[in-house]
Amino acid sequence: MTTRSHVFPRHCHAELPTAVGGDGCYLIDQSGKRYFDGSGGAAVSCLGHSNARVREAIKEQVDQLAFAHTGFFTSDPAEELATMLIDKAPGDLDRVYFVSGGSEAVEAAIKLARQYHLERGDVNRRHLIARRQSYHGNTLGALSAGGNEWRRRQFAPLLVEMSHIAPCYEYAERDAGESLADYGQRVAQELEAEILRLGPDSVMAFIAEPVVGATLGAVPAVPGYFKRVREICDQYGVLLILDEVMCGMGRTGHLFACDADGVAPDILCIAKGLGAGYQPIGAMLCSNTIYDTIAGGSGFFQHGHTYIGHPVAAAAGRAVVRELLEQDLISRVQTQGAKVEAALRDRFGQHAHVGDIRGRGLFWGLELVEDRSEKRPFAPEQGLAGKLKKAAFHAGLICYPMPGTRDGRRGDHILLAPPFILEDSDIAFMIDCLSQALGEVLD
Ligand code: PMP
Repeated sequence: MTTRSHVFPRHCHAELPTAVGGDGCYLIDQSGKRYFDGSGGAAVSCLGHSNARVREAIKEQVDQLAFAHTGFFTSDPAEELATMLIDKAPGDLDRVYFVSGGSEAVEAAIKLARQYHLERGDVNRRHLIARRQSYHGNTLGALSAGGNEWRRRQFAPLLVEMSHIAPCYEYAERDAGESLADYGQRVAQELEAEILRLGPDSVMAFIAEPVVGATLGAVPAVPGYFKRVREICDQYGVLLILDEVMCGMGRTGHLFACDADGVAPDILCIAKGLGAGYQPIGAMLCSNTIYDTIAGGSGFFQHGHTYIGHPVAAAAGRAVVRELLEQDLISRVQTQGAKVEAALRDRFGQHAHVGDIRGRGLFWGLELVEDRSEKRPFAPEQGLAGKLKKAAFHAGLICYPMPGTRDGRRGDHILLAPPFILEDSDIAFMIDCLSQALGEVLD
């Protein structure tokens, strides 16, 4: 079933099956085995693996124009995709900078924030505040912003110094007796405290994921948290960067996840679902204020990559957004998401080792604990997440389990982010496979 690989895999000793095809929500390996893509890779494949319209759009674009460097040209697919995005985007996000993925979007956002302040003559603003247990990408700037200790540890000497405040993670960190609203205000105040500690004139931006994905497993903020964060940013002239690389593009039941929090950022990062896996594409949206400041100043955003605004990637993104809007897939995320939630609560709500079930839309996380009443995680040495991934994969389910932290601040968890096109029978299959995998690993 496995083949020797000359591609440098993530896990050097992993023996991976070869993916040879995709059919709707399923991936198929060389033996013909089908796997339900319950995590969409990592919240990527929102349209499944065989969307005819996106495939056609890519072929047409390659035939017409494969590449034109953005130092010389713009292109119709990039312009049209940008227009579609800003038409739906919150606030005055009115300019789009296309990149090839999530880390690039975050890098661009960090540099844009710095350049914006410089062009206003606010040269001292250089600090970025982020949150613990967050993930913003693997390039050095994005990794510096991220608060995932395991990912950062061995590269620590190379990272840029940034501040990390508490995430909004009520399951693990809300005090007994504290209301959700009070908890939200308390953790939001950490932002103000950190701005004051660093010196208000030295902070350029705050970055956060509206729904934390890769590090915590689909954790939305409590109501009111982001509103307070927005107020604090405004009060101190700090830019708000929202990283929706994982939770954006309809995944949570809104095209942009921050719509649910009623907050508009100054800079918004998207990727994964934008190309839906058909092409590598990400984007950074920014406010008119930021754009106009740079346009009226140096007139040049000092950043760039060879493949920004790639016409074929943009054509794929344009076809993806058309599918989302014209097939009304965001409503489908809400209806199918409600069924996934109900099925998860029904099957695992009383499970002795499922401490929390949280999420929005088709973005769900299960946190596993050894003891539910104490919310005590399993010992990291047990390697629970890895075992679950293996057992689920064997059963025919791709899900995204992640290990807990060594300091015990959070336990192993499983992330589900299936394609938006999943049927009721797929939900049943996904829950059955998960149940089987949990049974094998935990009982
Ligand atoms: N930000 C978030 C919130 C992410 O989840 C990820 C990827 N998991 C990234 C940034 C980095 O994206 P990429 O892997 O496309 O570089």
